[in-house]
Amino acid sequence: SSYFANVPQAPADGILKLSVLSRADTNSTKVDLGVGAYRDDSGKPWVLPVVRKAEQQLAADPQANHEYLGVGGLPALTQGAQKLIFGADSEAIKQQRVYSIQTISGTGANMVAAVFLKQFKQPADAAVYISKPTWGNHRSIFETAGHVVREYRYCNYTTLGLDIQGMLDDLRAAPRGQIILLHACAHNPTGIDPTTEQWQQIADVMQERSHFPLFDCAYQGFATGDVTRDAYAIRLFVSRGFELLVAQSFAKNMGLYGERTGCLHAVTALPAVLPQVSSQLNRLSRATISTAPAYGAKIAGTVLQDAELYEEWLGSMEMMSRRIKKMRNLLRDKLVALGTPGSWDHVSQQIGMFSFTGLSKQKVDRLREEYHLYMTDDGRISVAGLNSGNIDYVAKAIDAVVR
Ligand code: PMP
Repeated sequence: SSYFANVPQAPADGILKLSVLSRADTNSTKVDLGVGAYRDDSGKPWVLPVVRKAEQQLAADPQANHEYLGVGGLPALTQGAQKLIFGADSEAIKQQRVYSIQTISGTGANMVAAVFLKQFKQPADAAVYISKPTWGNHRSIFETAGHVVREYRYCNYTTLGLDIQGMLDDLRAAPRGQIILLHACAHNPTGIDPTTEQWQQIADVMQERSHFPLFDCAYQGFATGDVTRDAYAIRLFVSRGFELLVAQSFAKNMGLYGERTGCLHAVTALPAVLPQVSSQLNRLSRATISTAPAYGAKIAGTVLQDAELYEEWLGSMEMMSRRIKKMRNLLRDKLVALGTPGSWDHVSQQIGMFSFTGLSKQKVDRLREEYHLYMTDDGRISVAGLNSGNIDYVAKAIDAVVR
């Protein structure tokens, strides 16, 4: 007998399962559009030139060492990250109403937020509302921290656009004071973002209902190519006087995936409560990771603090998002040219790393089994995995299974 005999098997993680299948597939025509990681036009991971430069600076610094970071993380990172999210001229920052703590990338930021809210949410029985659909890990993170998780409508599965009426109705119908998880930009998995007018409607309803916004910002710079435009929703809510939390990741926009670099930001209404909030976030971080990982933080901190590197980084984000948009339009054009049944405009209208194609599970299975084309079961493709060498093949494969 085993002490562990009563441990039930956990459900398999869709994305990780897909990566295993894809890695085992050695067919030369294989195209992996599963994982959300940027690839260059030859299908290779891309280390941003500014990251290389920052690494070289760090390697050349005779003072560099491997000491622990302080409990809040690396100030060069957390202060730069704060300005990136809220704006360099943010009133909230000037008024000392923002605390930022370094986390284990975006996932860790979500988890620290989840544990913090579980302990201090008002009312204590507030649920966490996530969009339907959302990043698969959201439910897992917030349930693991002990929250009840509910869904609000988000995707119109017929048009593959935003179901704004359904979303507003669900936010209105929820009891007062719920925690609403919002994707700041480049919604995963749908690639569907609210317009600026729709964000204002969302803010109106949330204010009416005294809901608490928790923003997940994993793709700033990837949606439009412009970090300011991609921070629109967060800055709107702050300017409206909301108190809120923001989980921020540098995985995608700086290509630091495995270095686990991110932050959690708290905005309070009054400077007076900030020390309470910061002390609790520090305590939670201390209890879970003790101190945050240093290497990615030093790279990102260097880029954020050096005016020249920062400018170059903005250019790289613009370039990555431009390549993705180009692939969206090409895929749409090729499907239209092939006369593939259905409308494909959503592929070019959606935004960020992903496209929610509308392909059924059955078609996704056929694409994988017959065409060695990998995407998640919900029909999501990582557009960043498309390139000039595989796009014809992908369009023809989709065309074949849709007919
Ligand atoms: N939130 C969303 C919506 C995401 O898509 C991701 C990345 N897949 C994350 C958070 C966190 O990623 P990471 O922990 O690698 O920063």
